[in-house]
Order: sequence, then structure tokens, then C-alpha cells
Amino acid sequence: MTTAVATRELSAMDRCDRCGAQAYVRVVLGSGELLFCGHHARQHEAQLRPIAAEWQDETGRLQEKSPALADD
Ligand SMILES: [Zn+2]
Repeated sequence: MTTAVATRELSAMDRCDRCGAQAYVRVVLGSGELLFCGHHARQHEAQLRPIAAEWQDETGRLQEKSPALADD
């Protein structure tokens, strides 16, 4: 399945689908896309990464921000 999904940088508007914290990981699946905070990305990575069409990980940017605001 080839779907043209433009890679874009995640912003403060992107929220984790699980907890509502700011999302730093975008996972593109055949059925759509999921957004996760760093915490939930790690929690779901083992399950989702093998089936993900794209795994956009911007958790590296967490280092540039205040840790108090970076995760849930
Ligand atoms: Zn989360």
C-alpha cells in the first residue's frame, strides 16, 4: 500500500492519542496515523514498529525543551 503522506515536523498542536501530552512520535499505519508522547511511544514501540509504514521519532527534541513540559 502506497500512500503519499508528507512528513512534517510535529508541533505543540500534535497530541498523544493516549494521554493528550504533546506528541513526539508519529506512526503511520495502513489504517491511518497515530501520535504518541515519548512515554507512550516507548510503551507501544515493540508492537507497532514492525507494522508501521513510517516511524517518525522526534523524541530527540525533548532534550532541547524543559523536561517538566516534555512528557506526561
Ligand atoms: Zn502519551
